[in-house]
Amino acid sequence: MQTPPDTADRAPDPHPAGPATTRLAPSPTGALHLGNARTFLVNWALARKHGWRIILRIEDIDGPRVKPGAIDLTIDLLRWLGMDWDSGPLIQSNDLEPCRVAMRRLAGAAQAYPCELTRSQIEAAASAPQEGAHDIAFPSSLRPALVSREFAKADELSSWRFATPRGLVEFHDFFAGPQRHDPSATIGDFVIWTKREQPSYQLAVVVDDARQGVTHIVRGDDLLDSAARQITLQRALSLPTPSYAHLPLVKGPDGRRLAKRHGDTRLDTFRARGVPAERVIGLVAFWCGLGARTPMSVIEFRQRLDSGTIPRTEVVYTPEDERWLLSK
Ligand code: GLU
Repeated sequence: MQTPPDTADRAPDPHPAGPATTRLAPSPTGALHLGNARTFLVNWALARKHGWRIILRIEDIDGPRVKPGAIDLTIDLLRWLGMDWDSGPLIQSNDLEPCRVAMRRLAGAAQAYPCELTRSQIEAAASAPQEGAHDIAFPSSLRPALVSREFAKADELSSWRFATPRGLVEFHDFFAGPQRHDPSATIGDFVIWTKREQPSYQLAVVVDDARQGVTHIVRGDDLLDSAARQITLQRALSLPTPSYAHLPLVKGPDGRRLAKRHGDTRLDTFRARGVPAERVIGLVAFWCGLGARTPMSVIEFRQRLDSGTIPRTEVVYTPEDERWLLSK
């Protein structure tokens, strides 16, 4: 009798046959702020304009940083702004098996290896970060011989790293234009499975985008250099590369990314102070090049949004913006 084919190690379907699909992918690590509102509203409006299916995916694998109640609050705030979706919420941590399947495949193909090195050991062996890189690159001298391995349960000591292939990754980003990155030089071998027995963000996002049939990714440009890492992983797993649109982030007047230091810009704080969703949407519309600030429904925003007029440079949240939001 023939043994049935072993399907356990089958990679996620490399060619999901399906409609154009995008995802709203909040991490419930804190409350949504005005910058997140802009990204999600633009993503939602582009999807509804172009007829893409929308999945709501809650990226909760960030372990200890996930705050209790944050998932419900995040969903509630997206609804308050008037957004809807066709599928989800899918909770990322509910099904990590496809990521284990991907790990078995990468480890078996000598493209991933366990690593017990501590941060200080890596820093000691590394040279200064390259210009433009956020962090030191994992030095190639620390990579062990690449051999086919069995992906075993990691322990408290070891994470697994991806053996990042050398070479330029080129892609076209809808907002940021042509991109050329060499993640093997700027990042080196990066963690794809953590010591906490979970996939890293980079692996989980690649596996989930593929199995959920995501074809269009719209997100903040803080993730632009992650896209190159994700493309190297997609190639190693024979998965399709979606199209990317990385929106310039909203910054504070000091030119730094919007954060607590710029005051409380959380949507639930504005809501509690009586600011209607239409004012938040009106400010986002102003930031998207739709003319003077004026309260706006999500439907009007969707109708008027023109991806061609969205500024390709950073947007600054000014004291005037705040005064307008809070005015009656
Ligand atoms: N969950 C990520 C965030 O909230 C977004 C990840 C992605 O869009 O790939 O920043």
